[in-house]
This record gives sequence, C-alpha cells and structure tokens, in this order.
Amino acid sequence: MSPVRQIINPYDRSVITEVEDQTRDQAISAITRARRAFDDGDWQHSSPEHRAAVLNRVADLLERDKEDIARTETLDTGKTLVESRIDVDDVTSVFRYYGNLAGLLHPKVVQGAPADVISRIDYEPVGVCGLIAPWNYPLLQMSWKVAPALLAGNTLVAKPSEITPLTTIKLFELLEEAGLPDGVANLVLGTGPEVGAPLGEHPDVDLVSFTGSLATGQRIMAAAAKTVKKVALELGGKNPNIVFADADLDTAVDYALTAAFFHAGQVCSSGTRLIVHSSIYDDFVDEVARRADRVKLGNGFDEDTESGPLVSEEHRAKVEGYVEIARQEGATLKAGGKRPDEPELQNGFFFRPTVYADCHKDMWLVQDETFGPIITAERFESEEEAVALGNNTDYGLAGAVWSQDLDKAQRVAKKLRHGTVWVNEFGAYLPQAEWGGFKRSGVGRELGTSGLHEYTEAKHVYQNLKPQAQNWFARGTGAAGKDAQ
Ligand code: NAD
Repeated sequence: MSPVRQIINPYDRSVITEVEDQTRDQAISAITRARRAFDDGDWQHSSPEHRAAVLNRVADLLERDKEDIARTETLDTGKTLVESRIDVDDVTSVFRYYGNLAGLLHPKVVQGAPADVISRIDYEPVGVCGLIAPWNYPLLQMSWKVAPALLAGNTLVAKPSEITPLTTIKLFELLEEAGLPDGVANLVLGTGPEVGAPLGEHPDVDLVSFTGSLATGQRIMAAAAKTVKKVALELGGKNPNIVFADADLDTAVDYALTAAFFHAGQVCSSGTRLIVHSSIYDDFVDEVARRADRVKLGNGFDEDTESGPLVSEEHRAKVEGYVEIARQEGATLKAGGKRPDEPELQNGFFFRPTVYADCHKDMWLVQDETFGPIITAERFESEEEAVALGNNTDYGLAGAVWSQDLDKAQRVAKKLRHGTVWVNEFGAYLPQAEWGGFKRSGVGRELGTSGLHEYTEAKHVYQNLKPQAQNWFARGTGAAGKDAQ
C-alpha cells in the first residue's frame, strides 16, 4: 500500500487533507499510459483548433471554480487569498493565450526554395512530456507547461511538489471535465526521487520540463542525457534590484519591499539583492527597514494580512540558517532576522521580513538563493559598478533598474545578463512574453511563442515536383545513359 502523506497548512500546521504518495512503478505505469495515448491515440493527429478549444474550455472551468481553487492554494501554500486569486487569473490567461495560438502550429511554407520544389515546415508534438513543478507557485508553474504541451499535441505525465499538490489535483479534474481523452494527461503524486526521477530517466519520455532548484535541475539534466531527452529547466535566481540616486525613491522603496517580501520571498525572481547608489544608500536602506518592520504577517485568509508564512518547518529552518551566516559574514541587521512575537503566529512557519545592510558581493548571503524574505543591501558608485554587481551571480533569471534617466536605465538593462529586466518596475510578467534564465537559471523559455515551440519538433518536408535522375553515381548506366548507347 502506498504511504499516506499529510498536507499541512503552513499557517497553523493543521492537516488539510491526506494524499497517497505513489511509487516508482506507478510513475512508470503513468508513463506507459502516456506513451500509448501518444502512439495509438488521436490526440496528436487532432487539429490544433480542436486542442485549442479544449484549452479554452479549461479556462472557462478555471473561471467557474476560481474562488475554490484560490482558497485551496492559500491553504496549501500560506500565501494571501489576494495573491492566490491573482495566480488563478494568471493561470486562466495562460490557457486562453495558448488557446489562441493554434495558427502557429500550421505548416509554414519555406521561402526561397528552388523552382519545382515545395518545402515546408510541419510543427509536430515531441511525444511524451514529463512535467515537474515546485511548491511556491504550484498551479501557475504547472500551467505554463501543461497548456503549451497539450496545444502542441503531446501527451504528458505531471508531477507537482509533494508539499503543495492540491491545486494540481484540481486542475487534472478540470482537464478531464473539459474532455481531454484518456491517457493524454496523467498525474503522479509523491516525492522527487520516487516518482519525479523516472520522468528524467525513462526512455519512453521524450521531453522533461522542470521548474525547481538548481541542484535538482542538474540531477535531471544528467539523467536525461542518457536518452538524449529534450530538457527545459527553470531554476533559481539571485536577482539584483538596482536603484540609482535619480530614481523616484518613494516608489523604489515601495517596490523594494514587494520585490523581496512578496510570498515571503519564496519567488524565483525575488529581488532580494538590493544594490543602491552610495549617495542615497543609508537613507534608502533605513526606509526599507522601517517599512519592513511594519509588514503585517498573518493568516492568508485575513484581509489585512500582507504576507503569509514560509511553506514548511524544514524550509524555515533553512531560511533561519542565513541569520548565523549573516552574523559570521559581518552584515548589519536592520530589520527582522527572527520569528514574529505575536502569540497567534507561533504555530505557523513565520519569519519576519529581514533587511541586512553593509553587504558585499563576495558574501555567501549575497550569492546564495535564500528563498526567504531576506534583503541584502550593497552599495555602488558608478553605472559600470552597478552593472558588474548586477551580473555578479551564477544565476541570470531577473533584475531591475530604477532611474528617471531612461537612457541610462535602458543602457543598464541591455548589459544585465538576466532573462527578464524590469525598468522602474519589479515582478510583472506577461503570458505573451518569454520567461526564463540566462546562465544557471535554466535552459529554454516558458510563455510566449517560444514556450509553445519548446513542445514541438520542426519537421522539414521537401517535395521535388519534377524528379529527374542526377547521374551522380554509375554514370551512363541509367535509362538516359542506355538511350545514348
Ligand atoms: P526542488 O528542486 O526541491 O523541487 C522541485 C520539484 O522537483 C518537486 O516537485 C520535487 O518533488 C521534484 N524533485 C526533487 N528531486 C527530484 C529528482 N531527483 N528527480 C525529479 N524530480 C525531483 O525545488 P522546490 O524547493 O520545490 O522549489 C524551489 C526552487 O524552485 C527554487 O530554487 C526556485 O528558484 C525555483 N523556481 C524557479 C522558477 C523559475 O521560473 N525559474 C519558478 C519557481 C521556482
């Protein structure tokens, strides 16, 4: 019998529900079902318009069940209900966006082919896709994979995080209700090593798309090499938020807080690395710290809660570990650095929004992804130094620049080696715009049209309308040669 896993509400440690952790054999059965549905089923041969209509039906169902899904996400992750509602809206937009892209899957005539040749590119599905998602944006990250994979005609096996599986379970109920044929979308529940690993290893999986930590991504990439699967990776980030002295400072302070403390800092693109011009550094960091001390922590269901808890006891222990690292490295604590004092928060996995000043680029605190509500503030003197600091990371997911000199801001944006750069903004994204990382933040792109083509194979079909012997080999012995004899 499969072990039962308790799904815990991080606000108060209550048990929301129990789910069965599946075994490796069950994961392999799911892969086999997806393989059969791909090889023998109609899905890959159905029209892109038919598949797009299914995605739009899923979007309708997401709208219908929005409140229920949002509440489940808040219970499971601890994020505020307002954030969860935004997540469900974003997920719906992603299904609608890909539901409008059927036209991109139509064959494309290649221009410039020789006369008497028809050359075209067909966009075919890759096959069976293994989709692995993290716990911080459970439904959102999974939808960035499921929607384009289905539109392209693939079949799939999806594995949500074992910590926050509930909204993905719900999504799979909606996929069924929307009329997806049996075996096209398969869900496996359980731990990474048990049911995630087979998606990277098994020869019947053609593509693995993973969002999660760098260490797990490296493991999956190595496993996938054995069967040369296509690999898409969305990994971590250590994202610079650069503030010039000529920025609108009140707005920049406000965004510095949201950049780093949204969802308790458990965001891959979180702007935890604050890099501020030395002429405004002290006042700016003091103001960020002053406001950080006022962030209202609480139950995600309470309207006045601004931030919820961390996702688990284990994760909070990891985040708390950075307090000692900061002390050893000589950073100056300006706010937080501890659990909250309120009696009603003692059962949850809370950690106060934290600000460290006097940080420099070589600190582990500055280089490592804390995945918690911790700002490190560094100072810079020149534009060149700001760029150098912004790029001084193994990651390359996202960054921001704040200045009212838009030429300067754009110059800096151009030089930052990150997959998304915000100018006088932080955190916004669009389903229409590619998302992904430079350097160790990943491989490939999600969202946008690239996010669809991750799931297609481009096949070149070259048709000669007037084939004639080439007489390259054995010259003179073919029909034309015999005539000449
Ligand atoms: P994680 O790597 O621990 O787990 C991610 C998923 O992989 C989970 O479903 C887990 O069960 C599974 N997994 C674990 N070991 C596995 C294995 N050996 N084989 C296959 N699957 C395995 O990451 P996490 O803690 O859930 O998420 C946090 C990380 O995700 C952070 O590093 C964050 O930056 C990253 N993230 C990146 C993006 C992005 O868009 N780049 C978005 C969200 C989160």
